[in-house]
Amino acid sequence: MRKQIAAANWKMNLTLQQAETLMDELIATPHELNENQEAVFGVPFPYLISIKNKLAGKKNAFVAAQNCYDKKSGAYTGEVSAEMLKSIAVDYVILGHSERREYFNESHAMLAAKIDICFANGLKPIFCCGEPLAIREADTQNSFVETQLKESLFHLTAEQLTGFVIAYEPIWAIGTGKTASNEQAQEMHAHIRSVMANQYGAAVADSISILYGGSVKANNAKDIFGQPDVDGGLVGGASLVAADFAVIINSLK
Ligand code: PEP
Repeated sequence: MRKQIAAANWKMNLTLQQAETLMDELIATPHELNENQEAVFGVPFPYLISIKNKLAGKKNAFVAAQNCYDKKSGAYTGEVSAEMLKSIAVDYVILGHSERREYFNESHAMLAAKIDICFANGLKPIFCCGEPLAIREADTQNSFVETQLKESLFHLTAEQLTGFVIAYEPIWAIGTGKTASNEQAQEMHAHIRSVMANQYGAAVADSISILYGGSVKANNAKDIFGQPDVDGGLVGGASLVAADFAVIINSLK
């Protein structure tokens, strides 16, 4: 049975004090995770240790970095390596978010290298994919996303992809308040699963958790997560409000 995941992406928001308060509030707000469910907190690099400490002893709650560099170590001022993240016991790394692809020119090949270095350090990638509005309007989103998957994931082994996490995030729905309809989300998630099944077989594809991201809120999470191929969400804005994110966690199947 594949994992259901509510993943927060705090992006470049909050001071340390605000971040700690948010986490304290969330911990104090009733929410439940069963054996098959996880809450993952994608927090800015400087807060990883502090938030990880706050989650100590909490069942099925993990931290994620929002990025890492694709080189092992060396003269790359300002970058953070996978080995550094491993050394502070980070669990997940969000890779290929559309904001990084757009503002930092992250290519398919660079993302493939980042995934490799995460695996080499025992970190679990959350691989983001998704189309811009013009592609959706041209109705070519399926082949666009398929290319993203092929170019960055198809060098991996079936073993590496078993239990892997993909986040489908239509760019036109991120931070816009415009959510993909339940049907649009289900259709793309089923497509992603079939692309992975064609390459790696149904068992691997069925083990992959595919999260939806794009204006998931407390009032729409249950409907979106209720779709058969939607295994939770990657949540930006609504993850910054403890009460809302608690509802989103409780909306997991
Ligand atoms: C995101 O940052 O990945 C995201 C989906 O943001 P939002 O939930 O604010 O649309």
